[in-house]
Amino acid sequence: MRSFVAEARRRVPSPKRERVRGIVQRLAREHADATIALTFRDPLELLVSVMLSAQTTDVNVNRVTTTLFEKYRRPEDYLAVPQEELERDVFATGFYRQKSKAIRGTMRMLLDDFGGEVPRTLEELTRLPGVARKTANVVAAELGRPQGVVVDTHVRRLSQRLGLTKEEDPVKIERDLMKLVPREDWGRFPHLLIWHGRRVCLARNPRCEVCVLNDLCPSSRV
Ligand code: SF4
Repeated sequence: MRSFVAEARRRVPSPKRERVRGIVQRLAREHADATIALTFRDPLELLVSVMLSAQTTDVNVNRVTTTLFEKYRRPEDYLAVPQEELERDVFATGFYRQKSKAIRGTMRMLLDDFGGEVPRTLEELTRLPGVARKTANVVAAELGRPQGVVVDTHVRRLSQRLGLTKEEDPVKIERDLMKLVPREDWGRFPHLLIWHGRRVCLARNPRCEVCVLNDLCPSSRV
């Protein structure tokens, strides 16, 4: 039997969901320039940049890829040099051994299984060596097909402060956010939180007094 009460409850947005809508609108006004900070010209460069960005800054990755992408343009190019040469070329991003190994493995699979193209689904992307869910999420979103919500250190901190999740584990935080954030905002939501986290909701000293969310935030200090 249909339950009208249950249906009505489903239709009425929960306060948390309403709050998320306000948060997205205000942050979109505040950080209209919030986009990915990595520089890339095509899906392959995007994928490599995101793989290199683990444990380092986007600025650092961009510095390295300026010359890297002149030398390596196609998946074949990454396999045409000895592993040590690629290691030297990505050295400045840190963890260069693991990163170059993962990049070469990924290029091999792109050629063998995906016709040399970067796949678009999370399922396919996470099959690539060294490509975990977060990397796959970033790539899919930037290619215009977000299938989840990217959770990095800023997204985690802000979601917790804004009372959108009580979880610590990124996968569980993502699950909470996917329930709350409208699907059409999955792509831009993490960028908005990341830029707000860098400019206002700083890790040590959040600037609550100038924060446009301070009346929506349970952690506000004003
Ligand atoms: S009110 Fe303070 S804690 Fe809340 S989001 Fe803004 S800066 Fe962060």
